[in-house]
Amino acid sequence: MGRDDVEVVVLGTGTSHGVPMIGCACAVCTSDDPRDRRTRCSIVVRWRGARLLIDTSPELRLQCLANRIDAVDAVLFTHHHADHVVGLDDLRRFNWLMKRELPCFGMPRTLERIERMFPYAFDPHLQTQSSKPDLSLRPIEGSTFALGDVEVTTVPLYHGEMPVLGFRFGAFAYCTDCNRIPPEGFDRLRGVRVLILDALRRRPHPTHFTLEQALETADRIGAEQAYFTHMAHDLPHAETNASLPTHQQLAYDGQVIRV
Ligand SMILES: [Zn+2]
Ligand SMILES: [Zn+2]
Ligand SMILES: [Zn+2]
Repeated sequence: MGRDDVEVVVLGTGTSHGVPMIGCACAVCTSDDPRDRRTRCSIVVRWRGARLLIDTSPELRLQCLANRIDAVDAVLFTHHHADHVVGLDDLRRFNWLMKRELPCFGMPRTLERIERMFPYAFDPHLQTQSSKPDLSLRPIEGSTFALGDVEVTTVPLYHGEMPVLGFRFGAFAYCTDCNRIPPEGFDRLRGVRVLILDALRRRPHPTHFTLEQALETADRIGAEQAYFTHMAHDLPHAETNASLPTHQQLAYDGQVIRV
């Protein structure tokens, strides 16, 4: 890999319920196509020698096993919603494999909420004989943050009323859980060639882009290639992709994207 090359392993592409959903017998939830099976949203990015996990989904362990992820240098959190954080305890394996604590980056508000959701992991006074994740919380204050000599650019996004973060690594950007990008976000996405963007379904939703809005937004950003994520069971993979231009397609679990 060259210095500016990015390799992305798409761990999960499903909305908060996952696809199939519990107790749903629709065509997508009962589909035989493995690309219609969507675990909760997460990716691993390899860039400039660092392996960065974005979010800790409820299926983190299964995702790492399926994609042979056995090392992670840091975790980046987009926001604190349960479908993006509740797999946090599985980070214990990376502590053990890497023999060190794992830095976790996110907005101050995101990290505060995660601390409250996992008191046993962060309370230094709490005595336990069980193992717990060894994490250092690193609040992101500005438009960029550094892990060693790897500098990552944040992208401000809105998920309904809630500010959340996208992340940019060279010519690649990951923007899940959003339905609005403020002007500053578009500025930071200028020149991105490959994009992963939220596209929940075709019907409107108060906190996620619809497929149509995602197509327009990807065009506005000018990405040569856009992949969509955080899909509900309304979007069958093969049929939806056949209806879309080849440079704007639904992503799928296990997809590897090289930029
Ligand atoms: Zn989500
Ligand atoms: Zn369904
Ligand atoms: Zn969310």
